[in-house]
Amino acid sequence: MSNTPVIEIRDLHKAYGQLEVLKGVSISAEKGQVISLIGSSGSGKSTLLRCANLLEDSQKGDILFSGEPVEWKGSGLNRRPANQKQLLRIRTNLSMVFQQFNLWSHMTILENVMEAPITVLGRDKSETEAKAREYLAKVGIGDKCDVYPAQMSGGQQQRAAIARALCMEPEALLFDEPTSALDPELEQEVVKVIKGLAAEGRTMMIVTHDMRMARDISDHVVFLHQGLIEEQGSPDQVFGAPKSERLQQFLSHSV
Ligand code: ADP
Ligand code: MG
Repeated sequence: MSNTPVIEIRDLHKAYGQLEVLKGVSISAEKGQVISLIGSSGSGKSTLLRCANLLEDSQKGDILFSGEPVEWKGSGLNRRPANQKQLLRIRTNLSMVFQQFNLWSHMTILENVMEAPITVLGRDKSETEAKAREYLAKVGIGDKCDVYPAQMSGGQQQRAAIARALCMEPEALLFDEPTSALDPELEQEVVKVIKGLAAEGRTMMIVTHDMRMARDISDHVVFLHQGLIEEQGSPDQVFGAPKSERLQQFLSHSV
């Protein structure tokens, strides 16, 4: 069972009211795999990530975490996770990094990174502090522990958000356009950190518009179009020999 996926999504359907956003999407990430999700704005990429870590409800299909299926109650638009303990365990094991960093402005960087392990996981404070300092050093901002988010560049803030996600010691990391809010010169410092995590063998699902990064670090690339997987494959297949016309068109606009 060594290749049981860390996250597996089977035939997922999600609508906002009448708007069908995911129309039956299956995707999985095995331990150590990097999966990139690409596609036009509005194709459902963020929704898929948010459904995967149960920030968003879905109406049909299964989500499995290390082989364990999410337990649901109700059905259709009334379907919700049934087991709060399971929900918390899954959510804390799939740490999310958002486009807009979402750091707490009234806390220092160190406090930001320490907050969830202590309050959500009940971890020991001094151990967590040591880990937080280690992860901040790892992303190259070990000297920013006592600084507030507003005093840092976007690239530094996003690296702090990555350290915060790592400090939860999750099974997998989910990134939603982690470099989209950054100026090009700051983008690369974040790309470098993400590449380092990929090289370490971390399990990751990354929504990105950065095709170069996706090509460099992914084991598998998924192209989403209007709530369905239009094409998927290795980076060489998807970027080097795209079959679908929609993917060809998408790629011709994104270089
Ligand atoms: P992407 O991340 O690929 O740009 P999203 O998953 O954000 O796409 O959005 C997919 C579709 O769902 C879009 O049409 C968007 O307007 C819609 N949508 C996203 N979030 C909501 C929401 N909270 N309420 C209603 N519609 C939403
Ligand atoms: Mg999005």
